[in-house]
Amino acid sequence: MREIVHLQVGQCGNQIGSKFWEAISEEHGIDHDGKFVGNNEAQQLERMDVYYNEASGGKYVPRAVLVDLEPGTMNSVRAGPNGALFRPDNFIYGQSGAGNNWAQGHYTEGAELVDQVLEVVRKEAEGCDQLQGFQLTHSLGGGTGSGMGTLLIAKIREEFPDRIMATFSVVPSPKVSDVVVEPYNATLSVHQLVENTDETFCIDNEALYDICFRTLKLKNPDYGDLNHLVSHVMSGVTTSFRFPGQLNSDLRKLAVNMVPFPRLHFFMPGYAPLTAPGTSQYRSTSVAELTSQMFDHNNMMAACDPRHGRYLTVAAIFRGKISMKDVEEQMVAIQNKNSAYFVEWIPSNVKTAVCDVPPVGLKMSATFVGNSTAIQELFKRVSLHFTAMFRRKAFLHWYTGEGMDEMEFTEAESNMNDLVSEYQQYQDATVEDDADDYPEEMMEDAAY
Ligand code: GDP
Repeated sequence: MREIVHLQVGQCGNQIGSKFWEAISEEHGIDHDGKFVGNNEAQQLERMDVYYNEASGGKYVPRAVLVDLEPGTMNSVRAGPNGALFRPDNFIYGQSGAGNNWAQGHYTEGAELVDQVLEVVRKEAEGCDQLQGFQLTHSLGGGTGSGMGTLLIAKIREEFPDRIMATFSVVPSPKVSDVVVEPYNATLSVHQLVENTDETFCIDNEALYDICFRTLKLKNPDYGDLNHLVSHVMSGVTTSFRFPGQLNSDLRKLAVNMVPFPRLHFFMPGYAPLTAPGTSQYRSTSVAELTSQMFDHNNMMAACDPRHGRYLTVAAIFRGKISMKDVEEQMVAIQNKNSAYFVEWIPSNVKTAVCDVPPVGLKMSATFVGNSTAIQELFKRVSLHFTAMFRRKAFLHWYTGEGMDEMEFTEAESNMNDLVSEYQQYQDATVEDDADDYPEEMMEDAAY
């Protein structure tokens, strides 16, 4: 038993978090009251304890803590189809809101509520047999998910330093939201995530919007459409944690395979086939087609082009009744064809798992997790917007008014710029660089 404690914070965090529970409850045959109504008990229930507590009467309860600084979103979760699934004591909310201000989430309003949240987290952790770690869903652009979310991460890290901390972090895009201070909130958050998480899945609203608009031909995509994609990705990347299998089967194993340097843990997720809500899959699929779509930049949920960088590591998860041999052949073929885009100094840096349970409504699917140096494009985009405003100290008084020092902005900015340089450094590194470290004869020997 290797349990995960899930937290969802702020409007976006609660919305995507609830979609995640809806998706996985369906996959595991859990109805709105937490009762098992599935058809394959062995498969669906074998690893239930990773995400659910079993309560009296055979009821399955999500090990989830729901947090917000205003009651609105959580009231709709409670009133929604899965509202009765969650433990009532695990809804923790304030009344003040965070006004899209990271400082209010991190230092003032959020700091007042944080102990109450930690108490519930502690209680959930104590009920675990062998806790593997935490996962948190939030946005980086607002005030609560970003400010209070990163405060919670820091506090949990302090109390559980040897457990894994993973986040599903929604990156802001002007295409989707028009809050001007989002680049500030996002940069201050990244500053925290670099130090305090082990793995962060970058879910980029810019990419989600582009997929909805370009590929799915939705004229005016709303959050429902974007979150439909998010729930596919979240169910996809957690497949190996939830169903029997060996590869990347928990948060720590995934981190060990994916993270060659501690700071470089920002993943680009991808998914195939892409579907709009209420429609069947966009294109017919075979393993060959899934493989090529999965590596296609149009299927990436971070608005970065992997062809502008190189993969340090990749994890792929295929689902459905498909042949392992077929999958292996396709994966080898695509790597051979694109070998320039994989760093050669990490041998066998692509790991592929196959799970024979397909997602609900599809025959097969593929989920992609890439640790690509091209993720720097996302940080550069945010940084550009940050710097334009910060140079003129625009909107800064909202933050200093909550007691923040300008210095923290400067530090956050340079930490994110350092991150970009580190990705660039490993993008440029080649095996030949090592030659300088060895005497010439040794290199000649090694050539044979
Ligand atoms: P908070 O409640 O203070 O954490 O603020 P929000 O979560 O509303 O943060 C605003 C940011 O989150 C903006 O970048 C929004 O575009 C984004 N956002 C809000 N709700 C959703 C959602 O349901 N889905 C997605 N993908 N993004 C959202």
